[in-house]
Amino acid sequence: MTNLATHLLETAARLPDARALTLDEHTVTYAEFAQRARAVADDLIAKGLTPGDRVGLILPNVPAYGIYFYGIQLAGLVAVPMNPLLKAREIHYHLENSGSRAVFTLGATADEVRSGAGEAEVIEVDPLGASLASREPALADAVERADDDDCVILYTSGTTGRPKGARLTHWNMRSNALVGQKDLLLITEKDVVMGCLPLFHVFGLTCGLNACILGGAELTLLPRFDSAKALEMLERDKVTLFEGVPTMYQGLLAAAAAARSGSGMPDVSSLRAAISGGSAMPLEVMRHFEEAFDCLILEGYGLSETAPIATFNLMTGERRPGTVGAAVPGVEVRILDDMGGELPRGESGEVAVRGDNVMKGYWENPEATAAAIPDGWFRTGDIGTMDEDGFVTIVDRKKDMILHGGYNVYPREVEEVLYEHPAIAEAAVVGIPDETYGENVAAAVSLTPGSTVTPEEIRAFVAERLAAYKKPAVVWILDGLPKGPTGKILRREIRASHS
Ligand code: AMP
Repeated sequence: MTNLATHLLETAARLPDARALTLDEHTVTYAEFAQRARAVADDLIAKGLTPGDRVGLILPNVPAYGIYFYGIQLAGLVAVPMNPLLKAREIHYHLENSGSRAVFTLGATADEVRSGAGEAEVIEVDPLGASLASREPALADAVERADDDDCVILYTSGTTGRPKGARLTHWNMRSNALVGQKDLLLITEKDVVMGCLPLFHVFGLTCGLNACILGGAELTLLPRFDSAKALEMLERDKVTLFEGVPTMYQGLLAAAAAARSGSGMPDVSSLRAAISGGSAMPLEVMRHFEEAFDCLILEGYGLSETAPIATFNLMTGERRPGTVGAAVPGVEVRILDDMGGELPRGESGEVAVRGDNVMKGYWENPEATAAAIPDGWFRTGDIGTMDEDGFVTIVDRKKDMILHGGYNVYPREVEEVLYEHPAIAEAAVVGIPDETYGENVAAAVSLTPGSTVTPEEIRAFVAERLAAYKKPAVVWILDGLPKGPTGKILRREIRASHS
């Protein structure tokens, strides 16, 4: 019996009055959270939904997200979370592909959801689940689920084609959240965790919502990332653990600089640790953040398909900045050659993952599943190396590698150098077609406020530090770089709009 939602009931019994989900001045306690989620489960069961049926969730980071996600779980149903910024066509694809029978949404997104809902019933909710507050739910225990039953289907674009639904089981989700809470982040009821990572994405779902429930911690929610607001919240809610992607750390640094020259830096002394994942953390950003916030950043690595945590720099053990840490308990990592053979330590190849956290497969897509997990090892599509002690360095995405006149250029290496330039705030390196060399290196950068620098100066800066073939042939200075829903810089979009 491993329904993920069992943990919510356990925590609510242990810490009924503890704060669970906060949105500005509103807080939902663990007792309220469990009671409201049980009422949601009652309603879903009353509609005739039966275990294994899928239900869409199109909500921002508000307490209702947790309440409805856990209501779906308590009823033994499968959650299909989606980005609230999706348009009707995309919503339609996700709901239809997953065969979702109902979808929860709220406020401004409801019209778009209705246009895309097709057969699925659209259910509008309020941000706090307040309409459920006076209910006395009938359902007492979570509906039984086997380890291997689907818990959530997360759509991820992968390398090609339309988004595929990664089927994560109760076992995948539970074991990964437990590793996060117990082994890595040491989350307890004393913690207040910053909830700015979107909960529809696996990083926020597992390391934020699920790990907080296991530890009995408070998750303070920010519906849309805004670095000045996030900085204020650190002080207001006495946040102890910050979880973010690298662009959020950059945003916080800029907000801290603005605060220092204005009303003063807020008191962030409650912070005990920060974790980063989702894309490569530039060493310069890590260093500046650690200085400015007096708090270490621990970097991890994973994917939607791995629930997500595959490797991590331990809080209690050794930390190696620049690496994404070593395989976490219950997970194995190998570096493979093109034939699927394991490479010696230090050589670069495709990162492969096996263990408790690896998805069951892609929803109704056996070909994609067989290609991704041909032999029990999930192929991540990332190139990496592993040192003698098992610490992994992610070199880059396989598909982002630039082939310049027979040489491999990994964008990340050039980006690291660009971030060392004091005038550069954000950098992304992409390949653009070239008649002579096949591909050329191009860099898109945005500048720190008030600085000026020419493309030629930036090219010279890189040329002094890296081999000539890695020097960008072009540098675009942009107002800001395009980002995806989790704040990852979208190299794909930069490539498409400039080449
Ligand atoms: P997603 O499925 O959206 O979580 O994206 C997973 C991808 O994010 C991985 O395949 C990596 O390319 C990238 N990624 C995640 N964590 C890191 C990290 N710490 N360093 C570099 N890339 C990362």
